[in-house]
Amino acid sequence: MESSGVRAHIECVSGTPPCGAEPPDAEKGLAPDEVEAWAEYHFRSTGHRRYDRVCCDTVQWDPPEDIDPRTITGVTS
Ligand SMILES: [Zn+2]
Repeated sequence: MESSGVRAHIECVSGTPPCGAEPPDAEKGLAPDEVEAWAEYHFRSTGHRRYDRVCCDTVQWDPPEDIDPRTITGVTS
């Protein structure tokens, strides 16, 4: 599957209870290198080193050649 639009989310889980810090604009999703940069920034100001990280992307699933998507009942796009 072809992948596009990789987004990543990161949250600091260091300490008890977990720190919970996130990058300022975390909710819209960041590029993987942006979360990496934020982790370094957060480490430099707190020493925290444990993070939960989630990555997701958008993929195009291509059907087998013997299936024409236009023939599927109820297709809207
Ligand atoms: Zn932290």
